[in-house]
Amino acid sequence: MQQRTHTCGELTEENINEVVSLYGWVHTRRDHGGLIFIDLWDKYGLTQVVLNPQIDQLAHEEAHTLRGNYVIAIRGKVRTRPEDMVNSKLKTGSIEVFAEKLKILNPSSTPPFTGWENQEVGEATRLKHRYLDLRSEELQKNLELRYQVTRTTRNVLNEANFTEIETPMLTKSTPEGARDYLVPSRLNPQKFFALPQSPQLFKQLLMVSGMDRYFQIAKCFRDEDLRLDRQPEFTQIDLEMSFVDEKQIFTLVENMIAAIYDEALGIKIETPFTILKYQDAINRFGSDKPDLRFGLELVDLSEVVRGAEFKVFAQALDAGGQVKAINIKSSADSLSRKALDDLTEVAKTYGAKGMAWIKIQENELQSPITKFFEKEMLDRLIEMVKGEPGDTIVFSADFPKIVADSLANVRLSAAKLLNLIDEKRINLVWVNEFPLVEYDEDQKRNTAMHHPFTAPLEEDIEKFESNPNEMRARAYDLVLNGNEIGGGSIRIHRKDVQQKMFKLLNIKKDEAESKFGFLLDALQHGAPPHGGIAFGLDRITMLLANAQSIREVIAFPKTQKATCLMTQAPSEINLKQLKELALKYDLS
Ligand code: ASP
Repeated sequence: MQQRTHTCGELTEENINEVVSLYGWVHTRRDHGGLIFIDLWDKYGLTQVVLNPQIDQLAHEEAHTLRGNYVIAIRGKVRTRPEDMVNSKLKTGSIEVFAEKLKILNPSSTPPFTGWENQEVGEATRLKHRYLDLRSEELQKNLELRYQVTRTTRNVLNEANFTEIETPMLTKSTPEGARDYLVPSRLNPQKFFALPQSPQLFKQLLMVSGMDRYFQIAKCFRDEDLRLDRQPEFTQIDLEMSFVDEKQIFTLVENMIAAIYDEALGIKIETPFTILKYQDAINRFGSDKPDLRFGLELVDLSEVVRGAEFKVFAQALDAGGQVKAINIKSSADSLSRKALDDLTEVAKTYGAKGMAWIKIQENELQSPITKFFEKEMLDRLIEMVKGEPGDTIVFSADFPKIVADSLANVRLSAAKLLNLIDEKRINLVWVNEFPLVEYDEDQKRNTAMHHPFTAPLEEDIEKFESNPNEMRARAYDLVLNGNEIGGGSIRIHRKDVQQKMFKLLNIKKDEAESKFGFLLDALQHGAPPHGGIAFGLDRITMLLANAQSIREVIAFPKTQKATCLMTQAPSEINLKQLKELALKYDLS
């Protein structure tokens, strides 16, 4: 059989009368008495092949044995299809190939599903036979899109003088705060490598090396409970630059994201992106990853309602909490009692004890709580939220964190419920000036909000001893329609500051030395000011593809239980391997 001359998605009327060789999979076979029709598939499309006993008896006979999914090669002449058989949906729909030769390259057992059609197949079966699943148009498109994203990324960064550098997979525990995946070292019994949670320290060290601009499409590993849409191994677009401030990083990233949108989807997006300080984001939207495609901002009413008889508010304020509200515009008619109950449930999921509300009607306020307020207070309250007839005001009264979380989610749910989100809009916003540390109640110590290598704001440096919880970090996240797609920071580049940071995190001197001695060492050997960022490639591709889960944009993803149903990994190892690795394991 001759080499492939065309793909299955290529032939058109321009090829009429050419003799061609096609390779592919039998998608469907239709036996029409004398003639046998085969739709031959490859990733480029489908071509109709006709086997006619009068053209080649042998090929025709062999075609009888073909089943779906057989891998075959055919050779034949391109003809025009009879007019009534033209399929205008296919690029190859006006031609067919009359086969003169047919070769079966590999027969196939009956597949559990073909992958081509939109069959109702459970995800477990699809993951077990992922190679079939990946044939679906959707997954093929997603993987192409993913490649387009990395290709554009490489082009943009290449133009901007970056060097792509690989960093080790077998390394030391890194500090992103998740559990490590560990690899025992055979040659160093009782010692373990950790798979990188990110290339963070290596990329910083590359800056000390003078590499100036580094990037990597980097695999990262975090052994977390896979609630939500996470994967134990995922991919980052990771970059680091020397002698830069936030602005230079933002500009570079904005150009990169704009190029990705343009080249992957043909969409022009506006730059520069909005910048929102963390505290403003929390105050106005209750979230550090706000979706700005709609309003429904939070309004602080603590001072307005202070002194009211309403117990729920009074107790919250007395305990040092706050009272905030959202005016859900023009919703008084559309938000039924049931819808309000549902929103209350959302608030409760995020810690609120309930959700008070007021509906503003033409001549009255409809609400179970207005009786507890004096008229002036109500007037002032309504003025503050810019209330008008037809609006619904919903409240949260509690500690700031609960108020923020519950109202942020009520805001999102209300927007979805009332169809306030323009799905075509693309909103990109930088959130910056995060707190440097947050107090972890469980561990009873401060933890880094980003990671321990993030620099504080210059003007906050003096607060390490006096007021560490007020310190702001030179950290930033990029948020796309309410999803965090990347995060980074300007780093600490001086040893003394890094030591202060470790101290603040309650990392003792010897622990800092044994864990990060190499970094501290490098910081005193000519570390330049530097900063960077990392993006979740899986999440970005998922959002661009409009996919429901990151599993849909990863070729071979793991399940929610961190297993691979196809290879059956992880799997047991035998005693010999355990021994070699000097591992003891209770097999009873
Ligand atoms: N290494 C960080 C992370 O994985 C990103 C960065 O700071 O560049 O979140």
